[in-house]
Amino acid sequence: MARVGPYVVTHTLGQGTFGKVKLAEHTESGIEYAIKILDKSDIKANELTVNVRREIAIMKALNHKNIVNLREVLSSRTKLYIVMDLVRGGELFEMIENRGELDEVLARKYFQQLIDGIDYCHRRGVCHRDLKPENLLVDENGVMKITDFGVSSMKGGSDLLFTACGTPYYCAPEIINGAEEGYSGVKIDAWSCGIILYLLLTGMLPFQHDDMTRLYELINACSVTYPSWMSADAKDLISKLLVKNPDRRYSLEQVKEHSWFRVDYETGDSLG
Ligand code: ADP
Ligand code: MG
Repeated sequence: MARVGPYVVTHTLGQGTFGKVKLAEHTESGIEYAIKILDKSDIKANELTVNVRREIAIMKALNHKNIVNLREVLSSRTKLYIVMDLVRGGELFEMIENRGELDEVLARKYFQQLIDGIDYCHRRGVCHRDLKPENLLVDENGVMKITDFGVSSMKGGSDLLFTACGTPYYCAPEIINGAEEGYSGVKIDAWSCGIILYLLLTGMLPFQHDDMTRLYELINACSVTYPSWMSADAKDLISKLLVKNPDRRYSLEQVKEHSWFRVDYETGDSLG
């Protein structure tokens, strides 16, 4: 048990690529939070002073039901503590690992929430850049909360992010090819949303190979095999997202207009 400012930090909730996330209780109110602990030595000095501060300011200003709320950031000589709302339901990753693919109705519900949250952030100039089911949490009411948001610059830019993610199953071709310069992060997020949609519907990754060189080839070729039972509409949407050229890849605006997307998950009615 350790003290961090007004919090008592206890057990580990999750281990990410960089940070450890621990349970923290605010001693005065008794409210529980999740606290992400980052080692300052993992963050480039200039990133820390400029980018991280800006990113944190933006993060604090974000307020959306599908994004984990950032409460405050504390700093010690060696560490950075990011205090956020606690999401108790676990990772979407674990859900898919445990029960396999989701039915189309449930997959659509989570996908709509993902797009809602990301679209909100894009409109405010924030890109996630590390969307994957380990970073998508589900609360006790089945509401998806995107975490690890906007923290990508803390990870020291894309090269470090890339090394950290190790297996680039969710990385857009322009990142893998080191050509993301000049492209905006919004299309990088759109690519990852396509991968996540495929995973939600099939329980499998569209591009998978133990050999990294082969994996890169698969991603660059954008050759996706769809199970025969997948609806034509779902296939169509995924194929519009897993497009190599970011300029031709669907934007989130286009996703929101797609017929597969436009079904109300409460009523099953088409949103028209
Ligand atoms: P990293 O940047 O190192 O990947 P994350 O921010 O993704 O770190 O957090 C690592 C893990 O901690 C997540 O995959 C999740 O399991 C857990 N976690 C993160 N944020 C929360 C939260 N707000 N509530 C509960 N668990 C969380
Ligand atoms: Mg993470």
